[in-house]
Amino acid sequence: MNESSLKKQLVKLNLGGLRYFDSIGSTNDEALAWAADGAKDLSLVVADEQTQGRGRLDRKWFTPKGSAIAMSLILRPTIPMRPHLSRTVGLAALSLTDACLKLGLSPQIKWPNDILLNGKKTAGILVETVWSGDAADSLVIGMGINVEKAAAPPAETLQFPATSLAEQLEAAPKREEIIALILNAFIRWREQIGTEEFLKAWDQKLAFRGEQIQIRAGAEEIIHGRLDGLEPDGSLRLRDEHGSPVSIRFGDVSLRPAA
Ligand code: ATP
Repeated sequence: MNESSLKKQLVKLNLGGLRYFDSIGSTNDEALAWAADGAKDLSLVVADEQTQGRGRLDRKWFTPKGSAIAMSLILRPTIPMRPHLSRTVGLAALSLTDACLKLGLSPQIKWPNDILLNGKKTAGILVETVWSGDAADSLVIGMGINVEKAAAPPAETLQFPATSLAEQLEAAPKREEIIALILNAFIRWREQIGTEEFLKAWDQKLAFRGEQIQIRAGAEEIIHGRLDGLEPDGSLRLRDEHGSPVSIRFGDVSLRPAA
């Protein structure tokens, strides 16, 4: 992948703008600065390598050169989208799962922000907001995708197993083709973000549905329950041992199968 092969692949998409980097600290940092500086809706930052890739909180996201997709998309929320901004992580997750489905894979969503193939993490999502007073001025949607085998971090460094598209397929397609699949799906799902169909499609792809799971919330708390589905705002609904519903909001939460 290079700037011209990427531009060629994305020419029909009507993006607001495109910035390509051979190497960058974090595509989300670049996109946040660009958004604050007036980037148009659907502007995209792509890098071949991230040296300071970020996950949630201070977690690191590994993006070695030549083997992964690191991209951040800038959204200017439209008026119809505004009541549904808590579904943005679902919008990104559905775009990634659609792209995987097109490649013949069976992706699942580890709520809230990871995509699994065969139970292993292949992609992660990081949504960040640029505020203007109380209103979201723009959203930055970061996606990291392990394409070649070298993109997955060494197993001994991980708490949750990782894989790559190349490990799951005979050979992974070119990264610019995968980016085009993701963005096409994104543009389609974005129009439907407030609908029941959107919620249903997101819900149906949840990993561990019906299974006992645990949610680590912050440093101390562990919540146990059976994974029941999504609330309309994208929160996760569990059933506790008495069958009562428990809602888990986004935040510092990590989902695991029950030990
Ligand atoms: P978890 O899946 O363990 O609950 P999380 O969802 O809380 O993690 P994220 O911010 O999504 O955390 O991802 C960061 C974590 O993902 C890192 O701490 C690291 O363990 C792991 N990781 C980093 N880079 C990759 C990668 N390229 N592929 C898979 N996993 C990665």
